[in-house]
Amino acid sequence: MSAPRKMLFDGEKANPATVVTVESYDFDLFVIGAGSGGVRAARTSAGFGVKVAICELPFNPISSEVTGGVGGTCVIRGCVPKKILVYGAQFGGEFEDARNFGWELNDHIDFNWKKLLHNKTKEIERLNGVYKRLLSNAGVTLFEGEGRLVSSNIVEVTQSDGSKQKYSTKNILIATGSRAQRVNIPGQELAITSDEALSLDELPKRVVILGAGYIAVEFASIWRGMGSEVDLVYRKELPLRGFDDEMRAVVARNLEGRGIRLHPGKNLLELSKIEKSIKAVTDHGDVFIADTVLFATGRLPNTKRLNLQAVGVELDKTGAVKVDEYSQTTVPNIWAIGDVTNRMNLTPVALMEGTCFSKTVFGGQPIKPDYANIPSAVFWGLKSFLTLCIVLRVPFDWRVPWFALDVHLAPRSTSRLSRCSSPV
Ligand SMILES: Cc1cc2nc3c(=O)[nH]c(=O)nc-3n(C[C@H](O)[C@H](O)[C@H](O)COP(=O)(O)OP(=O)(O)OC[C@H]3O[C@@H](n4cnc5c(N)ncnc54)[C@H](O)[C@@H]3O)c2cc1C
Repeated sequence: MSAPRKMLFDGEKANPATVVTVESYDFDLFVIGAGSGGVRAARTSAGFGVKVAICELPFNPISSEVTGGVGGTCVIRGCVPKKILVYGAQFGGEFEDARNFGWELNDHIDFNWKKLLHNKTKEIERLNGVYKRLLSNAGVTLFEGEGRLVSSNIVEVTQSDGSKQKYSTKNILIATGSRAQRVNIPGQELAITSDEALSLDELPKRVVILGAGYIAVEFASIWRGMGSEVDLVYRKELPLRGFDDEMRAVVARNLEGRGIRLHPGKNLLELSKIEKSIKAVTDHGDVFIADTVLFATGRLPNTKRLNLQAVGVELDKTGAVKVDEYSQTTVPNIWAIGDVTNRMNLTPVALMEGTCFSKTVFGGQPIKPDYANIPSAVFWGLKSFLTLCIVLRVPFDWRVPWFALDVHLAPRSTSRLSRCSSPV
C-alpha cells in the first residue's frame, strides 16, 4: 500500500516551508462487492479515466460471510437462476395443453431436474466469467477476498488463505448487497433459503414455504409447475404485501387455482425431523410433513463485518447504510449503492444507482437516482406471459420491451417494472 505522502513542487528544494501535502493513493475508487451495482459503478467510473479496484468473495452458489462471486445475487442466486427455473416449470402446463391442440405426446413425459440444475449452474458460471471480463476490459483491478474498512481511506482484503492486503483509496463504494435471513424458531436449521432452493440436488415432492413476498410466490409457482405439492404459509391476509390490493387478491385466487395451498394469517412455530422428512407446525396447530421448508422471509444488508461504524458510517436499525440522495454516506468520501442501502432492492435500481454514483463523483455531472416509475414483475404466471398488465399512472408503457414482462402489477403508489434479465 502506498500511504499518502509529502511531495515537492518541480525544481524546489527540500525546504520545510515549501513542502506541501499531496495525497496519493493506490486507487481513486475501491468498490467492495462485485454484484449488479458494484460492477456497474466500477466500470462506469473507470470509463471516466480514474483508477478503480473492486473486491469480491470467492464464487459459490450458496452465499455466506465468506462466499459470493463476481456477478452477485442477481446472476448467481437471484434473477437469472430463478428465471431459468421459471422457464423450466412453464413447460409442464404447456405439454398438457398441447395435447388439446393436436400434439401427440407419449403418456409419460419425463422431467430431469438434475439436467436443469446442471444447465443452470453452467449458465451462472458463464455469466460469472462474463462479468469478470467486463471488469478487466474496463481496466478495473479485481481482488478476490473479503473487503473491510480499516479507515475512511484504507480497505483491507482478506483472501481465502487468510492473507491480508491493505490498499489506500480516495473514495470507497460499499456495494455488498444483502443476504437471506432465517427465522428464529426451533428447528430453523432444517429449513433452506432461496440460495439453497436454487441448488437443490433433488426436486422436492412436498414443500412448505414461509412468507408471501415475490420470492415466496415465485418459488411456489416454480415447484408447483414441476408437480410438487406446495403449502404457502404467511401472516397477512393476502400475498405480495406492498402491491396493489386488488391484484393481490387476483394472484391469491390464481395460485389456489393452480393447486398451491394458501395458509394466510399463520406463522410457522417449529420444525423437527421425522425420518427423511420435516414436520412443520403452525401457530394455529396445522401440521405439514414436507421434504423441504423454505424461509422466504426477507433479507438483511451485508454490513456486519465491514467495520463501517468504527470509521463513522452510520447504519439504520436494519443495518442498512444510511445515504443521502446522491448515495453519499455520513463520511463524505464513502458511498453506498444497491441492496446494502435497502432503498428499492432490485437489480435495475442497483444499476441505476451505480451509474448515478460514477457520474456524480467522477463524471462532473451530479445526478440523483430517480425512483419514480419503477414497476415490478412477479413471475407467478406459468402458462402465459403478460397474464396481467396494470399500471396506475398510464395504462401501459409501450416503451417497455415485451420480453421484459410476465405479470405487471401496480405496487404502492406508483407503477414499477423490473427487467429480470441481467443487464450489466
Ligand atoms: C431469489 C431472488 C430473486 C430475485 N429476482 C429478481 C428479479 O427478478 N429482478 C430484480 O430486479 N431483482 C431480483 N432480485 C434482487 C436482486 O438480486 C438484487 O436487488 C441485486 O442483486 C442487488 O444488487 P447489489 O449490487 O446491491 O448486491 P448483490 O448483487 O447482492 O452484490 C453484492 C456482492 O457483494 C459481495 N460481498 C458482500 N460482502 C462482501 C465483502 N465484505 N467483501 C467483498 N465482497 C462482498 C457479495 O458476495 C455479492 O456478490 C432477486 C433476489 C433474489 C434473492
